[in-house]
Amino acid sequence: MNDWTPETWLIAAGRNRTPGEPLNVAPVLASNFYLPDDRLYSRSDGTPTSDALEELLGGMENGKALSFASGMAAAAVILHRLPVGSSIAVPVDPYHGVAGIVNEGEAQGRWSVLRLDQADTPAWLDALQTCDLVWLETPENPLMTVADLPTICAAPRRDGTIVAVDSTFATSLNQQPLDLGADVVMHSATKFIGGHSDLLAGVLITRNDELLEEFRHRRLLYGATIGGMEAFLTIRGARTMALRMERAQQNAMELAMRLTRHPEISRVLYPGLPSHPTHAVAATFMTGFGAMMSFETTGAGERATDVCNRMELVNHATSLGGVETTMERRSVIPGQERIPPTLIRLSVGCEQVEDLWADFVQALTAS
Ligand SMILES: *Cc1c(COP(=O)(O)O)cnc(C)c1O
Repeated sequence: MNDWTPETWLIAAGRNRTPGEPLNVAPVLASNFYLPDDRLYSRSDGTPTSDALEELLGGMENGKALSFASGMAAAAVILHRLPVGSSIAVPVDPYHGVAGIVNEGEAQGRWSVLRLDQADTPAWLDALQTCDLVWLETPENPLMTVADLPTICAAPRRDGTIVAVDSTFATSLNQQPLDLGADVVMHSATKFIGGHSDLLAGVLITRNDELLEEFRHRRLLYGATIGGMEAFLTIRGARTMALRMERAQQNAMELAMRLTRHPEISRVLYPGLPSHPTHAVAATFMTGFGAMMSFETTGAGERATDVCNRMELVNHATSLGGVETTMERRSVIPGQERIPPTLIRLSVGCEQVEDLWADFVQALTAS
């Protein structure tokens, strides 16, 4: 990245500034290219559109980016590069797709798995000495536990140990794991980067060229390359990410404070609240606390479902990171039965906060 701030970079990067060229890189819809050229086939080499996306997202973390058809495609590439017999450390409840790959590989005897409380920093420091892959997801789904990235990423580790960070909830605007010493950052660009719930995309960012080429090779083998239209839409969404995050984070903080005081809410988990168990850690390195939070209603799980169904503005839907606010119960997701039944995960969008609050008040009063 040059001297531009990240906010400006998101708007200015990934353009071909040649006279006569369009300001926006076009969605290149082609599987193959005329020879002779370095670019043969889009599954192996991407497209000019994915090149632009990678310049844009890589520059946000002073690294090189590789784009993927989804966040899970990007995650799978990191996990499946591990040889049989490897050892992995993951948070107790990583993203359920990641947990799916990790659990399956464990059941097949492909690797051994250490499941650690993300707040237990000494356990992660030990894992750096024994594991081949240390996988952090911070803030973590859905309790918003923040890992002590500055301590963990800078600590001594066994030769060859890779530290990967799923930074989807924070975005490049709120944390910079590579600066802290991580080897690779993963984002589901489906979420805040895309920002409009209209695409699937993923990205890996690293400063290690050898790793990058390994990831590229695996992307080719799996056919996990992003399509030209998705790459175009991801760029278009990313242009406004800083604006959207600023608004969504303001809304999130305001809603977190108001929900904390509401008598029908028993607990609010937002890393920006001093009451959050990992707020103090988050405050040491995060430049914003993001737009994701969870809260619990009073009553039983059915009450929480009833509240979700009564929302009129807030969308009762899964996924996150869109301009529109969404919420859902998480304990109903297979594999997430450990999550408290009344816990609702909220992805705060960019609506006017008073409209959002009025919706919560009416749904909580009526339920
Ligand atoms: C959504 C998500 C993923 C998976 O990304 P997809 O784009 O849905 O494949 C991985 N990690 C986190 C934290 C996510 O929220």
